[in-house]
Amino acid sequence: MASSKSARRVYSFGGGKAEGNKDMKELLGGKGAGLAEMSNIGIPVPPGFTITTDVCTEFYRRGKQLPKDLGPEIRAALAKVEGIAGKKFGDPENPLLVSVRSGARVSMPGMMDTVLNLGLDDRTVHGLARRGGNERFAWDSYRRFVAMFGDVVLGLKPEHKEDRDPFELILEAKKHQLGVKLDSDLPVAALLELVGEFKAEILRRTGLSFPDDPMEQLLMAIDAVFRSWENDRAIAYRKLNGIPGDWGTAVTVQSMVFGNMGEDSGTGVAFTRNPATGENEFYGEFLVNAQGEDVVAGIRTPQKIVEIASRFPEIAGQLERVRHRLERHNRDMQDIEFTIERGTLYVLQTRTGKRTGLAAVRIAVDMASEKLITADEALLRVEPMALNQLLRPVFDAAQWRQAVKDGKYLAKGLPAGPGAATGRIVFFAGDAEEWRKRGETVVLVRHETSPEDIRGMNAASGFLTAFGGMTSHAALVARQMGKVAVVGCDALTFDYKARTMRVETPQGPKVLKEGDWISVDGSTGEVVAGEVKTTPSEVMQVLIEKTRKPEDAPIYQQYAKLLGWADKVRRLQVRANADQPDQAEVAVAFGAQGIGLCRTEHMFFGAGKIEPMREMIVAENEAERRAALAKLLPLQRADFAGLFRAMGSRPVTIRTIDPPLHEFLPQDEPGIQEVSRATGKDVARIRARIHDLHESNPMLGHRGCRLGVTYPEITEMQARAIFEAAVDVRQEGVDVHAEVMIPLVGTKKEIDDQAKVVHDTAARVFGERGQKVSYSVGTMIEVPRGALAAAEIAQTAEFFSFGTNDLTQTTFGLSRDDVGTVLSSYLEKDIYAVDPFVSIDRDGVGALMRIAVAGGRFTRPRMKMGICGEHGGDPSSVEFCNEIGLDYVSASPYRLPIARLAAAQAVLRQGQLAAQAARRKVEGVVGHLEHGVRTLERRVEKGVRRLEQRVESGVKQIAKALSPRRKATRRVRTAAKRPSRTAARRREKRAR
Ligand code: PEP
Ligand code: MG
Repeated sequence: MASSKSARRVYSFGGGKAEGNKDMKELLGGKGAGLAEMSNIGIPVPPGFTITTDVCTEFYRRGKQLPKDLGPEIRAALAKVEGIAGKKFGDPENPLLVSVRSGARVSMPGMMDTVLNLGLDDRTVHGLARRGGNERFAWDSYRRFVAMFGDVVLGLKPEHKEDRDPFELILEAKKHQLGVKLDSDLPVAALLELVGEFKAEILRRTGLSFPDDPMEQLLMAIDAVFRSWENDRAIAYRKLNGIPGDWGTAVTVQSMVFGNMGEDSGTGVAFTRNPATGENEFYGEFLVNAQGEDVVAGIRTPQKIVEIASRFPEIAGQLERVRHRLERHNRDMQDIEFTIERGTLYVLQTRTGKRTGLAAVRIAVDMASEKLITADEALLRVEPMALNQLLRPVFDAAQWRQAVKDGKYLAKGLPAGPGAATGRIVFFAGDAEEWRKRGETVVLVRHETSPEDIRGMNAASGFLTAFGGMTSHAALVARQMGKVAVVGCDALTFDYKARTMRVETPQGPKVLKEGDWISVDGSTGEVVAGEVKTTPSEVMQVLIEKTRKPEDAPIYQQYAKLLGWADKVRRLQVRANADQPDQAEVAVAFGAQGIGLCRTEHMFFGAGKIEPMREMIVAENEAERRAALAKLLPLQRADFAGLFRAMGSRPVTIRTIDPPLHEFLPQDEPGIQEVSRATGKDVARIRARIHDLHESNPMLGHRGCRLGVTYPEITEMQARAIFEAAVDVRQEGVDVHAEVMIPLVGTKKEIDDQAKVVHDTAARVFGERGQKVSYSVGTMIEVPRGALAAAEIAQTAEFFSFGTNDLTQTTFGLSRDDVGTVLSSYLEKDIYAVDPFVSIDRDGVGALMRIAVAGGRFTRPRMKMGICGEHGGDPSSVEFCNEIGLDYVSASPYRLPIARLAAAQAVLRQGQLAAQAARRKVEGVVGHLEHGVRTLERRVEKGVRRLEQRVESGVKQIAKALSPRRKATRRVRTAAKRPSRTAARRREKRAR
């Protein structure tokens, strides 16, 4: 079965049926699968066919050559299209024109190439003119086709932003020569001349004649679209979105329909729900008498889809039905492209619509409430990182009002990507990248954006464009990247050379230059000059600021519903990395079930603490050190008490001191003088101590538990502070659970040494206070030896927490502080698929984690285990932690909602995998049974055949036997006439 399926390279669709379906995205690309499915369910789709992604892979395997035997398959598929469309490819009388489009399994908007109007040549153009009754339209299509073919297929598209498209230059010259402003003002004769001039330009630049054979055009275009899989912007886009390079693109060849055939024609793009807010409304834009590209390219500002009812009432009804049908059928919000050709509606494309994080949450929650999907499906519909958008800041309303009062209001465009962005103006995508590298916050302001700008757009915190609608490139990319964007702000005009823009403000024109501050509100579309402070999002206002009531905050309600479902599903607990009571409060608001890591050293930087800390470090003997530690004790105790109070009965994991001590000492002269003054030690001694503390590899040096082993009095002071605070807060009625965690442990004896100090101190404090609190002592697993010797370490350690920042550093032997120098090359060359300090490297670091989990639980079967490295807030790492059976993940407070959703998704995915595995098993058994039945059938058949053969041969033998017997009978009869020898003998016998 599988081999015959993959052998097919071309899949047809149209006329109410298709050879593919929506489940074949890997092979047909999202577009091809969508078109096939639409055909299958009776949506009006122009006929066509899709060449599979396997052919793309083959194309690259053959050194960018189309398979030789593909031609006949394409011809056969074309014949089917011709049959349905009632036109013929290359027919001078009634020509079929096609579009040739790319389509990967996930959408990569505008990244690859497209050729439209293919099939036109000097003969077919007349047929098109006659059939369409519109000579102008035919020649306009032809000149567009020649230019597009020249750009895309013959490589004349300008490489650099500063270069102009050669065909545009010719077109401009023609308009100038004839004194017309718009393309549509050009007479037919001029269009005809343009075709000739474009072809001449192609010949001049490439030495190639424009191909007049439509079949040759088609094969060349298919070749070019496959090639566009490897163009710079597609590669950049794949890198940004984690799309593997070996997926390849499919190519869809489809009968052209024209939205530019007059006032009864049009084209549009629409979403079945609002992609910015998620509201359940038909949302999109259309243009009358225009080609599809005109909407997406943002060259003309389109009309809202709601207005289509007044222009094309019948089509509006049909579109509404299509909207509901497609959304119900696909059970998700759809992004639809359509064309109206002379009053007939065609749907050209449907795909799962891209949406903001805000919209993703609302659509998922709404669809689950509408029973279109289940709550579990809703959870899987929201990309955990997209929750960031709900937590995004909005502009400080007072400052914004002030800016408007001060006359800084500039203009209003379309709110394409919600949120608040403030930054310095740059006009070029390349500059956005550069400036960002320098640490500037920038807003990219342009006439319009194009796919080439992708890297710069990623670097900017927001975009502002003069042209285009909610479905323009800038708008799509903003939503996908989670950027703030305002588009179609037509008050702007640009002087790119001077690097300035002029804005027609309500108060009159204003000029802003590169580097000026600007603030863009992607939720309202408004723009003001200058920097405006941002304030927390609605969710933040409810949860953190407490300035808004939940019942007045619809976005918060959707967020809370979704995360409520997540909490019911997830197995992993979530904890926070927090060191201060206020952080702990934020953490609880975001759903923390405990503190997974309190880095005590962070507390030492607080006011009044760094001085005794430094005194402790520069101490020259234990007595001096203890004196300094005695000053630190009450400060630490107060900090810990604050944490315990904020967390209530939730567990609080406190780590003993971890960083190398030199990090607490000043390196500059005034700082050294200051320490000298504070400690009463002379400057030379301080310098000497700093010198002594210098290490070649501090990350692998005197840090972690090694500090506690060499200076047990530090651990003792910290343990005392913890237990005294715990007892104090316990006496206030709080059910404190303290977990003391020893960092950087690699051997059992290290944890033995430190655990003893902690237990002894606990016993002393509980004895002194006459009160006990529940506590445990555990270790971080953050060096490979700790993971490998986990079974032994677990004899002492009561819990493990994976410090994956250090574990990654020590496993790779790559400094976490210096990784930046190698990372970009490593990612570029695909040596690392992702930054291992962001997502757990499952094969290396993850393998050590598995060993540690197995070792720890070998010794203590119910041992509590978690993760507190930065990976704890990364969705892919959370999924891994769920898979290896950890009990909790701990992340920074603001990442907890992400961790909660990711943890729920991990359970659901694991369930799906288990179901898949079970299904495969059942399929395997069924396969075996079928095989058995087939073998049995074959055997029975064979047996029957053999039996038949036997019967047959038996019959033959009988027949044979019968025929001699007949002879024999005859013989007997003749013999009977003469006495036989036996009879004679018998007679003789009788006679005797
Ligand atoms: C870790 O190493 O993962 C960890 C949590 O500790 P730190 O980042 O403080 O070294
Ligand atoms: Mg660490």
